[in-house]
Amino acid sequence: MAVVVTGAAGFIGRTTVEVLLGAGYDVIGIDRRGPGVTAASYTHLTADLLSGEPAVAAALRAADAVIHLAGCPGVRDTGADITWRRHRDNVAATASVLDLVPAQTPLVVASSSSVYGGSVGGRPSAETDELRPKGGYATSKLHAETLCHERLLHGGIVAMARLFTVAGEGQRPDMALARWIEAARAGRPLQVYGSLDRTRDITDVRQAARALIALVERGICGPINVGTGVGHPLRELIDATAAAVGRPVFTSIVPAHPDEVSDTLADVRRLRAAIGFVPTTDLDELVRRQVAATLQPAEPEPGTSPVSGLAAVR
Ligand code: NAD
Repeated sequence: MAVVVTGAAGFIGRTTVEVLLGAGYDVIGIDRRGPGVTAASYTHLTADLLSGEPAVAAALRAADAVIHLAGCPGVRDTGADITWRRHRDNVAATASVLDLVPAQTPLVVASSSSVYGGSVGGRPSAETDELRPKGGYATSKLHAETLCHERLLHGGIVAMARLFTVAGEGQRPDMALARWIEAARAGRPLQVYGSLDRTRDITDVRQAARALIALVERGICGPINVGTGVGHPLRELIDATAAAVGRPVFTSIVPAHPDEVSDTLADVRRLRAAIGFVPTTDLDELVRRQVAATLQPAEPEPGTSPVSGLAAVR
């Protein structure tokens, strides 16, 4: 069985590819960056989903299942062309994937907990809640979900996986924990947006990958939270960082970006019913692993491989 993973060179994509390979699948990764994984049963297409490359279309049309993780992540990105990049990578690329993947091929599309606009009064966010996206990132993810609803209306298979904060080895450098680990190592204060009391539902990247794979294996349809159902105050994450790095840390509280929500918490009942398990996070172990991964000799950054343009790498 061949599974296509888009965004395969990214943070969640790389681990998803590794878990799929470990489970015995043949995997085709698509990413505009070069491969993050090399293995006999892995083929990497270095290409943009919107490039019109025939090999991309062929892989998506022939796949037994597709996990679409390519996107423009992050709520805090304020680059000049950010509106255009979010549209291109979160909306237009998803439209292209929906167009190419046959309706009856199981498909999971990465959405985000940001579509909820945060949890209100400590109540977990459920898939049936009214959506209150704040800012351009959340709005682009909601737009992508709307495209998925069209597929569902026409009898197609697609799950919109509303991922909550994901952490672990390879985390994107713009994410809080990755920034804090780097700052703690350098003896710099850890910049905290808003308050130490804000909470996040944090999923171990390995378990997020297992959940995404279980969703596509079962052909689950509709919006579905991928989280743990447990909220961690940021101060817990700071303590775990200090313990893992092995030195005291200092925090500096700075104003939060207006699009950042105060608290996130997943209602995981639908996920449990759909796949039979819910990710659990051992925060100390997870942060230790992320710290340890940053101490490994640096792997070549995806995209710095000699491959250019469209290339298939086994
Ligand atoms: P990432 O940036 O590490 O990975 C995304 C990958 O997609 C990158 O390697 C990028 O090169 C690739 N990509 C983007 N647009 C592309 C295109 N048009 N064609 C080909 N490749 C393209 O991000 P991530 O943290 O791994 O997130 C993966 C997905 O999960 C994203 O859609 C993100 O919005 C969503 N998500 C992530 C989190 C999280 O905590 N990391 C939380 C909620 C949702």
